[in-house]
Amino acid sequence: MSLLELRHVSKAYNEKVLALDDVNLKVEKGEWLAVMGPSGSGKSTLMNIIGCMDSATSGEVILDGEVLTDATPEELTRYRRDKIGIVFQQFHMIPYLTAVENIMVAQYYHSMPDRNEAMAALERVGLADRASHLPSQLSGGEQQRVCIARALINYPVLILADEPTGNLDEQNQKLVMKIFHELHDEGHTILTVTHSAEVGDEAQRCVIIEHGHMRERTA
Ligand code: ADP
Ligand code: ADP
Repeated sequence: MSLLELRHVSKAYNEKVLALDDVNLKVEKGEWLAVMGPSGSGKSTLMNIIGCMDSATSGEVILDGEVLTDATPEELTRYRRDKIGIVFQQFHMIPYLTAVENIMVAQYYHSMPDRNEAMAALERVGLADRASHLPSQLSGGEQQRVCIARALINYPVLILADEPTGNLDEQNQKLVMKIFHELHDEGHTILTVTHSAEVGDEAQRCVIIEHGHMRERTA
């Protein structure tokens, strides 16, 4: 069984906007897939549905054996916390908490905060010496690495990354991509969503989304 499967998934926001139109997709455990598409193609809609933040209008989404399309809002929240690690383009760190505390907040929503484990996660992304810095005291690349540590802290089955290098300069982009490559090598399943062919090329496989339609990328 695939780790993630979408069967005939559509999402209509209203009678006029069909953001996803009969999308079929399989992601195997350990795979790194990039979904590439221009602005307005349906990428965020897809992320929100896979990330248990929104539901499809029709079709089936199955994540790690759970049918998301049958789930109650409470179940979706639990799946999001238990199964998904999300890395956002805009970081979304809490500004008045330190790097390590931002990670501990994610632990709190899952089980019990554990400072040692949060510190180990920071060490994993090479930022142990930034643990007590506030987000405003970190560079963009450092903030994104804290966000990757935060995404990993609850052992997700799937890492979702939405334009993870969209706000970074070239050097930090490379650093963050290197971490994704390491995570992939360690066996993590990763789905990156991007408008950039350069970022899409980093992944093991790339699919294209256009006007809500998905197709394999032909080189
Ligand atoms: P992308 O992330 O690729 O830019 P989106 O998934 O955000 O694409 O949007 C896909 C389509 O759905 C666009 O036409 C967008 O205008 C529309 N859309 C997105 N969110 C909403 C919403 N909440 N209500 C109505 N239309 C929406
Ligand atoms: P970049 O050029 O990569 O954006 P910055 O110039 O923002 O990096 O920061 C360089 C280093 O200084 C970073 O490692 C960051 O952690 C540290 N730093 C930046 N601002 C502060 C601050 N207000 N307090 C403490 N450390 C800071």
